[in-house]
Formats: sequence, structure tokens, C-alpha cells
Amino acid sequence: MSFNVKGKVAVVTGGSSGIGLETVRLLLAEGARVAWCGRNTERLAASLAEMLASFPEDNCMAYPCDVLDKEAVTAFAAAVEARFGGTDMLINNAGQGRVSNFEQTDDEQWLAESRLKTFSVIYPIKAFLDQLTRSPCPSITNVNSLLALQPEPHMIATSAARAALLNLTHSLAHEFAAKGIRVNSILLGMVESEQWRRRFAERSEPQQSWEEWTQGIAARRGIPMGRLGKPEEPARALIFLASPLAAYTTGAALDVSGGFNRHL
Ligand code: NDP
Repeated sequence: MSFNVKGKVAVVTGGSSGIGLETVRLLLAEGARVAWCGRNTERLAASLAEMLASFPEDNCMAYPCDVLDKEAVTAFAAAVEARFGGTDMLINNAGQGRVSNFEQTDDEQWLAESRLKTFSVIYPIKAFLDQLTRSPCPSITNVNSLLALQPEPHMIATSAARAALLNLTHSLAHEFAAKGIRVNSILLGMVESEQWRRRFAERSEPQQSWEEWTQGIAARRGIPMGRLGKPEEPARALIFLASPLAAYTTGAALDVSGGFNRHL
């Protein structure tokens, strides 16, 4: 069974790396037309070149945009409409986490983290809402973290902001149901990413391989599946929720954490 997204238009924020890039790749492989954004233009261009090596140019659109810049996001939405004629699936993925406990987090950092986690979703939703409203199968899917339900003191600001995003996603699902727009999210545990690659490069035991190092993290953190997630694993969950296969699902938060969740 396919995801039934052939010919549909997907927008992926933060699509130039990691989970976002794997989501772009899988959507294109499924025949969707995909627009994605990122801030670093070199990385964005590299992601476009990589996708064009495997998929038709007509289906690919990479656009430089900071999701916290409201005008830029509005221009991104206008460019997608001009290029593809509308949007069916908005996948809000752009962002990063902040590692600090309460004593290490100053007021500006609290504000910045809160702003990133909420406005990285609010601005794209505002900008793409008209296009989604016109789609026959509209969806919004937010990348969120298990920290929303299971806070960690060493990521205190991210945990609090993630809880707010979970709450916001739930409200949006209810408000937009009347428009036929489904709103869901995925809750991530730890997924292999550039952040983890950077930490691997600085590891204290240089003889350790990537597998040994990541399995060590999984064991220490108590991830029952014994490994970090691969970016393509959350990508599949995102596309399922965004796709017509999940036509009767809204307001859901799908756990993609390898069993790291400690709640029922
Ligand atoms: P990566 O760093 O590999 O990718 C992040 C992507 O988002 C890049 O394309 C980056 O491009 C883009 N991005 C970041 N900030 C912005 C912005 N303000 N505007 C536009 N694009 C932006 O990270 P992951 O793939 O691991 O993370 C994807 C999402 O998953 C993030 O929201 C992250 O917080 C979340 N997450 C990840 C976890 C993990 O373990 N990997 C755990 C929990 C949540 P550029 O920097 O060029 O803008």
C-alpha cells in the first residue's frame, strides 16, 4: 500500500537536513510535489541537488526561509502557490533543541525557545492556511518531542515549550476540524541527526564506532529498543499522518521513540 500522496503538494519546513530531508525524499519517492525550506542557503542548495539527482525537477522546490521571519514565510507560501497552485500537506519540522537546566537558562533564552517552538508552527500555519483550506485533503503535521509529556531537567526550556506545542496542536485540531484540516504531531525520542553527529565527533573515546557510541547512549538513557531512531523512521510516521491514509485521525500525537515513553 502506498501513502496515496502522488501528485499532492507537501511543504516541509527545515527540509534541508535530517528528519526533514528524509521526509522530502520519501514524499518525492511517493510521487508528491514537495517544497522545503531552510536558512543556510548552501545546505539548502545541496539538498536540492541531491533530490534532483533522483527525482523530477517539476516536483522539487527548495526555498530559503527562516520560519521565524513572518514576511519570509508569507513569501514562501506565495512562491509555493505560484509554483504548485496550492498546498495539501504542511509538515512543520524546522527547529532544534536547547540543552540547559534552569540555572543555566537566562530570560532571553527562555523567550527564544518559547518563540521557536510556537512561532515556527504559527507563522507557517497562518501563511499556508488559505491554501490548505482549498485542498480536498488538507493536513498539518507537527514534529514534536516526547519532552512534551516527559520533561527532562537538562532541557528545561525545550521541555516546557514542547508541552505548549502539544497543547497548541490539540486546540488547532479541534478548531480546524470544521475546515476539514487534520492536525497531528509526532513525539520523538532521540533520532540520529547533525546534532548527534557533532557530539560524536567530539566523543571522549575516539576508537568508538558510530554504532557503539549511539548504542551506549541508548543503553544509558534506557531506550528499550537499544538504539537511536533513524531519520527515515519519523519521516514515515510524518507522511502517514499527513497523508489521506490517516483520514480519520486528528489531534493525535504519535510516539516515535523506540519505547522511551514511560507513561501509558
Ligand atoms: P537537523 O539539525 O538535522 O535539521 C533541522 C532542519 O531544520 C535543518 O534543515 C535546518 O536548516 C532547519 N531549521 C532549523 N531552524 C530553522 C528555522 N528557524 N527556519 C527554517 N529552517 C530551520 O535536525 P533534526 O532532523 O534532528 O530535527 C528536526 C526536528 O526534530 C527539529 O524540530 C528538532 O527539534 C526535532 N527533534 C529532533 C530530535 C532528535 O533527536 N534528532 C528529538 C526531538 C525533536 P538550517 O539550519 O539551514 O535552517
